[in-house]
Amino acid sequence: MEKWPVGVFTSIDAGLGVKLEVARELGVPTIQLHAPAASTRTPENAKNFLAKLKDAGITLTAVFGGFEGESYADIPTVSRTVGLVPRETRAARTQEMKEISDFAKLLGCRVIALHVGFVPHDAKNPLYAEVLKVTQEICDHAKRNGQNLHLETGQEPAEGLLQFIRDVGRDNLFINFDPANLVLYGTGQPIEALQKVGRYVKSCHCKDAKWSAKPGVEWGQEMPLGQGDVGMEQFLRTLKSLGYDGPLTIEREIPQEPARQKAEIGHAIRLLTELKKKIGV
Ligand code: MG
Repeated sequence: MEKWPVGVFTSIDAGLGVKLEVARELGVPTIQLHAPAASTRTPENAKNFLAKLKDAGITLTAVFGGFEGESYADIPTVSRTVGLVPRETRAARTQEMKEISDFAKLLGCRVIALHVGFVPHDAKNPLYAEVLKVTQEICDHAKRNGQNLHLETGQEPAEGLLQFIRDVGRDNLFINFDPANLVLYGTGQPIEALQKVGRYVKSCHCKDAKWSAKPGVEWGQEMPLGQGDVGMEQFLRTLKSLGYDGPLTIEREIPQEPARQKAEIGHAIRLLTELKKKIGV
């Protein structure tokens, strides 16, 4: 496969990604997949999905866990509902993430990923140790399935993420770097953050966003690739300087407007293809 193959974020049922058919029409060589709902994570469905991928000549590069009850409505809601941080749902979600790892294995996929949620910045907060422990459990389960776990960035500054990864202390824990999330959540300049955590970055989301007037308090605004504040050329140049070796997975979360979503992803594919050429990848 070519270096830095372009991809798109897809969903079968749950999730904000495009359908596999759209990925196929767009002609991308790779996808990431939002894990389907529990009822559809069957060996039969895995087999059918694999056959479709093979037929389309598409490689699955990561399966993302997502959970019922998560909401990205605003920053406080994310903090309350997303990932492994909320106590009420933690045990069930940890178990579900292990099942998602098993489903990914059926799909021959060596990477699972998730938004772990708002890990407290203070390592002395009891929540920190709790989230650490379940992340270790998931890493160990993934390891037995021959997989790495990638943490999606955005909800913590680069230093916090680095400390968390070191404290988890597992050799199969890495990062899915989403530069737009740092802008959306107001957690840091994406290029600076990428330089800090770069050695752990094994996958990424090509997504763009504009800063909010009150970063960290109110959401920024997601934008079509190249029209936000990330700076795509600099983002790719930084990945290159870090020796990045993964796919470039486009994420555009406007599933309520499928026609616009597809058109904008098409534009993003052209932009990334041009930029790859320009910077000599
Ligand atoms: Mg993302």
